[in-house]
Amino acid sequence: MRALTSVQQMTDVVEAAVAAGINHLETAPAYGPAEDFLGQALAHVHNRGHDPDTGWVITSKILPGCSVDDGQRQLDGILRRLNISTLDNLAVHGINRPDHLDWALNGDGAALLDWALSTGRVGQVGFSSHGADALIETAISSGRFSFCSLHLHLLDQQRFPLAQQALDRGMGVMAISPADKGGRLQAPSTTLRDDCQPFHPLELAYRFLLASGVTTLTLGAAEPDDLRLAHTLQQADGALSQQESKAIQRMEQQRQARLGADQCHQCQACLPCPQGVPIPDLLRLRNLALGHDLMAFAQERYNLIGRAGHWWEQTNASACNRCEACLPRCPHSLPIPDLLAETHQRLQAAPRRRLWG
Ligand code: SF4
Ligand code: SF4
Repeated sequence: MRALTSVQQMTDVVEAAVAAGINHLETAPAYGPAEDFLGQALAHVHNRGHDPDTGWVITSKILPGCSVDDGQRQLDGILRRLNISTLDNLAVHGINRPDHLDWALNGDGAALLDWALSTGRVGQVGFSSHGADALIETAISSGRFSFCSLHLHLLDQQRFPLAQQALDRGMGVMAISPADKGGRLQAPSTTLRDDCQPFHPLELAYRFLLASGVTTLTLGAAEPDDLRLAHTLQQADGALSQQESKAIQRMEQQRQARLGADQCHQCQACLPCPQGVPIPDLLRLRNLALGHDLMAFAQERYNLIGRAGHWWEQTNASACNRCEACLPRCPHSLPIPDLLAETHQRLQAAPRRRLWG
């Protein structure tokens, strides 16, 4: 989704991927010219005899909600652009709301997925989700899906029990964007770099995910150089070494020390909020900003609230009316309304200067 300047750029990235031991490519029609470029890049790489020894595994996605006819046209478009007759993995792109899951389990999506499998156009079906844990759990336990793509991050471990449930069922689990969405770890703060020594935070994040049994990491490469770390880590899926475990422990201790008694432990016990304030998500951004000095990342995520449809939260901390319903539920006795107000003040975008008047 990032190597979109030209077919040449995509080809260079795919070549670097093969050299790094990567054999899984994930794309989507929603990523502009990505599938078209990828189809052409794969042909170039094949003609040079550079295909991975194991062959490619290719995943693409279809947004939920379309009719069967439209979905069939979309899938055939994917196959045409990628120049393949079978797509290894077809994911429902973003089961973020209950109606998306209903579409996939009972509606037109169910008929579409059945058709895709029975005609041999698709090897297996799965889903990606940015939605609530309960929704993801229902999707995993439905038996409909063979894999899932989730937000699983070293600095946000809330969904690891869901990943484990999926792994226990024999599903493949893909970690969505451990670098960029995991805290923009490709360009971490000096504080986080120091806390993770002697490892780079991204290396530690990748190792943590691989050691947890996550099947696939999406690396989001725009340039061949973005795969340098992948090249180094291509055989690195064993258990964490003592040095790695210590580095993670030290990084967590430093966060705890900076946040003190105000650290949110992400247990979710404070929910639901009558105003719909996503308390743990907002306080997680506070944890990242103050605990790891990931201020730019936290501000970017905070200011996306309400602007990314069902892909991210709709309500920010300013909706808290201090009703105090959440207070007795927090096992850590956090002053939630005060922390939310402080989070809003720290993370909201600076008001735009008026141009005139
Ligand atoms: S105090 Fe604020 S965050 Fe807590 S339940 Fe009331 S509105 Fe929601
Ligand atoms: S109950 Fe307290 S510690 Fe748990 S997520 Fe809510 S604010 Fe954080």
